[in-house]
Amino acid sequence: MSGASSLLPVERALALLLEQADAAPIREVEIVPLAQANGRVLAEPLVCDLDLPPWPNSAMDGYALRQGDLAGEPLPVSQKIFAGMQPAPLQPGSCARIFTGAPMPEGADTVEMQENVELLDDGRVRFAQPVRPGQHVRPQGGEARRGDTMLKAGTRLGAIELALAASVGADTLKVMRRPRVALLSTGDELVEPGRPLAAGQIYNSNRSLLDQWLRALGCDVLDLGVLPDDPQRIREALGALQGTDLILSTGGVSVGEADFLGQVLREEGELTFWKLAIKPGKPLTCGHYRAIPLIGLPGNPASTLVTFGLFARAYLLRRLGVAAVEPLAVEVPAAFDWPRAGTRREYLRARLEQGRAVLYPNQSSSVLRSASWADGLVEVREHRTFEAGATVSFIPFSELMH
Ligand code: AMP
Ligand code: MG
Repeated sequence: MSGASSLLPVERALALLLEQADAAPIREVEIVPLAQANGRVLAEPLVCDLDLPPWPNSAMDGYALRQGDLAGEPLPVSQKIFAGMQPAPLQPGSCARIFTGAPMPEGADTVEMQENVELLDDGRVRFAQPVRPGQHVRPQGGEARRGDTMLKAGTRLGAIELALAASVGADTLKVMRRPRVALLSTGDELVEPGRPLAAGQIYNSNRSLLDQWLRALGCDVLDLGVLPDDPQRIREALGALQGTDLILSTGGVSVGEADFLGQVLREEGELTFWKLAIKPGKPLTCGHYRAIPLIGLPGNPASTLVTFGLFARAYLLRRLGVAAVEPLAVEVPAAFDWPRAGTRREYLRARLEQGRAVLYPNQSSSVLRSASWADGLVEVREHRTFEAGATVSFIPFSELMH
């Protein structure tokens, strides 16, 4: 059990978790106003029910004309069209003053920008430069056609997606309901901030980390606080849960079993303990309490962060039907040597300085400060050594935190 070969590779653990998520999809949907849809997951495709733009319009401040009317002679200006106006058809042999976003008058096919024309004293406009037919016109449907799918079901909604929905006139969206996550910390040493610390005690930081992170992922959090190492109290707390999609716990897994939580799960559910080929975060527990899925994260703050970011986040998003749950990683040169190959995949708290990944000096899994200093995680594969300048994968925290 202790040899490196018995450690579960990161990809395998993730695949197993995503399989479990796929087997337990959240199906209920709700309709929410755009302003409340940030961070949610779209439940049905967003279909455009108009052409975008709905009519041809000018991309420039300038003059709209029929290209065929240009024969070297200046053209008189027959109307002025601002954005929001409905223009008259273009009089043949004339041009129209037009501004960016204003509808093209019927009969005009081309726009010349105002910088390229000469205004004559008699009010006519001389087109000094060659004019390419159709230039500076945004055609009707140039961005999207009626019936186009703008966003697929399963899309995570952020400011950009919501703006896109607004651009096709949607004021509400059908989204997956929020997952309901029961959050609990285990550990008799834990004290909530604001209270004095007695000997042997530390402040509970994981609770705050996960509460905020879960909310950013669109979850409803049922915060159970710290559960004492007492199977009876754990049984009571879990037994009272209703409509919970996931129990997320931290701590109590580093010796190979989830302590009292594990005891309760073995009696009233099931428990799978994994040893992952990962550092930090080797112990990760999965299971069920009755029918409720449970993910037990290790308690060291940096381990909690890495395992939530890589596994629990992906699991929750997949329960909502998100297909691409893996964070975007960028390849950057390392600013450090890596002389000793590890048997576990390492996730190092690092910062980008002049485009190179610099490590926080203390990578201990107990040091949360490493994460607040860092911009993200450098991923170093097992069995790898390299020298400074070699390429490593960098996962920005911004990719994981939403
Ligand atoms: P455990 O996984 O329970 O063995 O905990 C591993 C380490 O993480 C121990 O040093 C714990 O004191 C610490 N720890 C566990 N839970 C938390 C928490 N909620 N906040 C901060 N540190 C914790
Ligand atoms: Mg503990």
